[in-house]
Amino acid sequence: MKQPFVSKDQLAAIVRRYPTPFHLYDEAGIRKNVEAVLDAFSWNPGFKEYFAVKANPNPSLIAILREYGCGCDCSSLTELMIARALDITGHNIMFSSNDTPAEDFRLARELGAIINFDDISHIPFFEQVAGPIPETVSCRFNPGGLFKLANGIMDNPGDSKYGMTEEQLFEAFRMLSERGAKHFGIHAFLASNTVTDDYYPALARILFELAVRLTRETGAHIAFVNLSGGVGIPYRPEERANNIGAIGDGVRRAFEEILVPAGMDDVALACEMGRFMLGPYGCLVTRVIHEKQIYKDYLGVDANACDLIRPAMYGAYHHITVMGSEEGPDKSQMPATHTYDVTGNLCENNDKFAVDRMLPETAVGDLLVIHDTGAHGYSMGYNYNGRLRSAEVLLRMDGSTELIRRAETPRDYFATLEVTAEGRSVIAQASAPSSPATTPCSVTNHE
Ligand SMILES: *Cc1c(COP(=O)(O)O)cnc(C)c1O
Repeated sequence: MKQPFVSKDQLAAIVRRYPTPFHLYDEAGIRKNVEAVLDAFSWNPGFKEYFAVKANPNPSLIAILREYGCGCDCSSLTELMIARALDITGHNIMFSSNDTPAEDFRLARELGAIINFDDISHIPFFEQVAGPIPETVSCRFNPGGLFKLANGIMDNPGDSKYGMTEEQLFEAFRMLSERGAKHFGIHAFLASNTVTDDYYPALARILFELAVRLTRETGAHIAFVNLSGGVGIPYRPEERANNIGAIGDGVRRAFEEILVPAGMDDVALACEMGRFMLGPYGCLVTRVIHEKQIYKDYLGVDANACDLIRPAMYGAYHHITVMGSEEGPDKSQMPATHTYDVTGNLCENNDKFAVDRMLPETAVGDLLVIHDTGAHGYSMGYNYNGRLRSAEVLLRMDGSTELIRRAETPRDYFATLEVTAEGRSVIAQASAPSSPATTPCSVTNHE
């Protein structure tokens, strides 16, 4: 059974301090997991996890991972700025982006990040907009076709926009060498949320063999192989969690069979896990504020898809535990006897955290924990319907809590309307007292 990382009583105390909805994160779980990841790859002296910032850009959480030597995998200007603000610079940044704007390349170059080129055409573009090619660079590979694993997991790299063909990759290595690159990485991301211990080992085999071919044919020094993200988590209660130790062992076997005999045992491993690092260690805490019975039974909660879009966007499953009301019984132990749709308040019928979900009988006032929102949860938030994104709260090791991001207010939502030289917004004007000093009208041009 899937259990929340907070008890009912703990949560009751937390919601007295922070109004729902909010994402809650579990520091103890994050630390235990990152320790297991480092242990699983400790056989590789150069191993480094570059946390995929897009999965959760909260600086307080990235700072925990930084304590363990994790770097950042950034894909945009603002993600680079987050890394910089955390003093994560140089080779502690992997810049894995695509369709990259010039200013992003410029900042990545300035910070000394490792550039992971998504396309061969980005090499002259980078030189033109950002400056000389650095000595250490990386290229992203796309093998095309279908990628299949023994357990039936499959993805379709041939249909994905990322990376270079093998032919282009060889050419890119030559181009980069001519331009002064000395140390190379190769990278690929072939399947997402893989709930199996076989994905990284299978990917490692593909990339290790490619690394051997590249070294033989181009003479390039392969410094690292980047297995990127894609290691999954069990969103569904019947799924079995990946065993990171077994994954590390599988990659080690591939390393010993392919790279060691080729004399390439100095290759460092990199990865850019996002979901596996934080996914299970976050949840969305929300309260039932309405109950509605028409052709189906609905529980209306105070969160919506702006706080967690995965169910609406991908039909993704997120497990829900009914904690009960603060004074009432602990419903997480009660049998699931009722079928509900759990909905948010957006004017979009896909704004449902669950459809036809069996839950214990639930009432207005009950607290729900929506599991596994630590990655690709808050970060995918948006503002449709003028809805404001929730707060983020960290549950510390000692049981105390810390607000690590406040909830948005209408002021945040309207901030981008502040387009006048005086920094005033149309909305502020509309609601301001009508003295001449406070009503300059330079947004709408009446002249
Ligand atoms: C999204 C992404 C990741 C992280 O993926 P997870 O599935 O969260 O581990 C890593 N690298 C790149 C380039 C990505 O686009």
